[in-house]
Amino acid sequence: MAAKGREIRVLGLPVSDSTMEETLAYIDKTVAEQGYARIVTMNAEIAYLAATDQKVRHIIETADYVTADGSGILWAAERYGTPLKERVSGIDLVQHLLARGKHRFYFLGAHPDVIETAMMKIHSDYPDVSIVGYHDGYFKEEESAAIAQEIAAAQTDILFVAMGFPKQDQWIMEHREETGIHVAIGVGGSLDVLSGNVKRAPKVFQKMGMEWFYRLCTDPKRIKRMMALPKFMSLVKKDCKK
Ligand code: UDP
Repeated sequence: MAAKGREIRVLGLPVSDSTMEETLAYIDKTVAEQGYARIVTMNAEIAYLAATDQKVRHIIETADYVTADGSGILWAAERYGTPLKERVSGIDLVQHLLARGKHRFYFLGAHPDVIETAMMKIHSDYPDVSIVGYHDGYFKEEESAAIAQEIAAAQTDILFVAMGFPKQDQWIMEHREETGIHVAIGVGGSLDVLSGNVKRAPKVFQKMGMEWFYRLCTDPKRIKRMMALPKFMSLVKKDCKK
């Protein structure tokens, strides 16, 4: 089994203390060994949901590998006195994997026009990439089995599911056997970014851990979801005092 490295806890939830390079090495090894890993990219909103809902918590606790997708998780790790080496966001992970030209990828998620545009952009930006299939994320439950069979028939190594948390991660869990994949990663809104429809925050925001603020300014509808951030911070502060 591929080595996972050190794991820390945030609100009792596991988070891998790994760099991007270490995470890529873990993925490569899992594929090479024909193993299986379900990877969750966890931000503060997800951690808050998991801390307050047992069913959601189970998705994180049973994951093979949990990365720190957002700066909120890095902040929390510091508070617990177990600082993480770096942030490993879902979108960065996708882009690094595509850039390396190894493995066979399948994308599942986003609106039909968004995934079409994203696939065109990926082929032009990463000419050596092997995308063995894709499907939008707006399908009926009855269609899931056929999609899972398509993923298996394409001999997919790495499956990216971009349907938002927890839907994407639940889909991965429910269809593990049928898909036969080696690595499955829930990557939220990554296809919106890859299609060019959503712009990532400038590097300076990312470095300051303020990407969430940029997203909020460019998409004020997210305010309700973002209310999870102060609630998450308050739970972490309480947990640290115990
Ligand atoms: N989505 C989907 N199927 C659904 C619901 C959502 O494919 O039934 C897609 C949606 O189009 C978007 C992504 O899931 O591309 C969720 O993005 P969001 O920004 O919520 O994810 P985050 O990065 O915040 O986890």
